[in-house]
Amino acid sequence: MRLIFQTGFCAVTAPASGSSTKTAYAVNAENHTQESRSSFVMYELKVITNFSAAHQLKNFHGACEDLHGHNWKIEVCVTADTLNETGVVVDFRVLKQHLKAVMAGLDHKFLNDLGAFKDQNPSSENIAKYVAEQLSLLLQAPEIKVSRVTAWESETACATYYPS
Ligand SMILES: [Zn+2]
Repeated sequence: MRLIFQTGFCAVTAPASGSSTKTAYAVNAENHTQESRSSFVMYELKVITNFSAAHQLKNFHGACEDLHGHNWKIEVCVTADTLNETGVVVDFRVLKQHLKAVMAGLDHKFLNDLGAFKDQNPSSENIAKYVAEQLSLLLQAPEIKVSRVTAWESETACATYYPS
């Protein structure tokens, strides 16, 4: 497991759009220098979505210890070494449906009240980890790996979780 907190920039280039529209695109990982990917991963898909929620970070000793909210942008990448008989890693619609189900559990919630964050702060780092774990459960496809999840809590700060 590796967590990277980035402020002011992100290693992943997001679509040049200020809107909250959901986008999805495929990246041929061979032409994409990604530190985290193993050398034999051949395909990577990315989907982007959003949710809004409130949280407070205990023992933060700063402004984030007070109750406040964010409009999080969530980027999810899945990888596979091979394509299915249709020639895709997974149908984007299927991936988005699963991600939508995970977002439904977070959207417009007070995250500290959720079972997943009873024993850990609902930080962007832990949110990214939670999304990765929940999405992996829903995918139920061992050939498809959730390779990273990035949670943007503002336009200039994000945390990325890389499942081991
Ligand atoms: Zn916050």
